[in-house]
Amino acid sequence: MRNLLAAVAAVVSIAGLVVIGGASTAGAAPVCAVDYKLNQWATGFTANVTVTNQSAPVTSWKLTWTFSGNQSVSSGWSADVKQSGAVVTASNMPWNGALGTGASAAFGFQATYSGTNATPTDFAFNGVSCSGDGPTTTTTTSSTTSSTTSTTSTTTSTTTTTTTTTTGNEGGCGSATLCDGFEQQTGSTPSGRWTVGAANCTGQGTVSIDSSVAHSGSKSVRVNGGSGYCNHIFFGTPMSGSSAVHGRFYVRHTTALPQSHVTFMAMKDSNDGGKDLRMGGQNSAMQWNRESDDATLPEQSPTGVSKSKPLPTGQWNCVQFTVDPAGRLSTSLNGAVVEGLVADGVPTADVDRQWLAKTNWRPTVTDFRLGWESYGDGANTLWYDDVAIGSSPIAC
Ligand code: CA
Repeated sequence: MRNLLAAVAAVVSIAGLVVIGGASTAGAAPVCAVDYKLNQWATGFTANVTVTNQSAPVTSWKLTWTFSGNQSVSSGWSADVKQSGAVVTASNMPWNGALGTGASAAFGFQATYSGTNATPTDFAFNGVSCSGDGPTTTTTTSSTTSSTTSTTSTTTSTTTTTTTTTTGNEGGCGSATLCDGFEQQTGSTPSGRWTVGAANCTGQGTVSIDSSVAHSGSKSVRVNGGSGYCNHIFFGTPMSGSSAVHGRFYVRHTTALPQSHVTFMAMKDSNDGGKDLRMGGQNSAMQWNRESDDATLPEQSPTGVSKSKPLPTGQWNCVQFTVDPAGRLSTSLNGAVVEGLVADGVPTADVDRQWLAKTNWRPTVTDFRLGWESYGDGANTLWYDDVAIGSSPIAC
C-alpha cells in the first residue's frame, strides 16, 4: 500500500557539547550556564538544553539565543519554544519556572536545518547575556559519526484489517476484532495485516519475528530500537477509529525507559491533522504524548512523573488502554490503573491539565503501531505479543 523508503541516513550524534557562561565585566559572576546537546541528521536535529541559574533566584525565566544558519524549530518540550526570524525564545513551563541560585531546568526542541548547524553563542537568561563581555566560554566537544547504508524496502499492501484471528493468544481476546499472538507468522518479518516501517527517517531500527521469545505460543515480534530520531521503526495495521478503542498488548524490554522522550506505541489521529497519539516514556516513566501540540500525560513535573510508572524490564508487561472519541484516556499496567496516565476530562494539576488545555480534542485513530521511536537518547530491545484491539475492554 505504501512504499517505505529508508533513505541514506547519515546519523551524526554530538555528545557533550557544553557552553558554559563565563565571567562578565567587573568580575561579576555569570548569570547562567547552558548545556546544549545535539543529536542531528542530514536535515534536522533535536537539542537537549539544560540552563542553570547562577544569579539570584527567579520565579520565571526565558532563555534566548540566535541561530547563525537556517535552523527552524518545529516543536519543543518542557519549555515553550518560539522562534521569530533567527531568534529563539524558550520560556519556562508552569512547573519549572522557579529556579533558585544554582538550580537547573532541562528542556528540548526539534528543528530542521541545512548546511551547517553551529551552536549558538549568544545565550541570554531573562535578557542578560550568559557570557557577559569578554566571555570565558568553555566549549568541549566530542563527536561520533556513523553512517547507515541505504536500503529500499517495499512492503506488501494490507487491505484486510479487522478479521478476527485467534493465534495461540493465551491472554484471551474477548470480543476483540484484532487478536494476534503472531503464531501464524512464517517469515522473518511481520506480514499479513502488519506493515513494517516508519513515516520518515527509518535507519537502524529493525522488526523481526522472534521464535525464541514469546508471551504465548512460541513467537513474538522483536523490535531493535536505535537511539536518535532517524531510527524510528514500527509494525502497524490500519484501524477504523469511529468509536472507543480498547487495546491490550504485552511488551517485554531490556532497557529502562530513559530520561529522554521515547515512543513505543503510536496511533494516527485523522481528526488531529493526521498527527500521532503516542504512548511511551519520559523522565524514566510511562507517558502519553500528543504530536500535534507536544502535550504530555502526565505533566512532566516531578509530581506528575511520580504519578506514572516505569515500564519494568526483563518481564512481560500487560498494557491496557482506552482512547475514547470524547477525548478521554485511561491506561493500566499489569492490571492496575496508572493514575498519571488517565485523562478524565477534568483538569488536574500535574496530571491532565496540560493535556486538556487543547480543547475539543476528539481523537479518531486510524491505525495502530508498536515499535520504537527515540528523539534523542534511548536505544532499547523490545518484544511484543498478544495484541488485541476491540470496542470493549480486553483483559490481561
Ligand atoms: Ca505469541
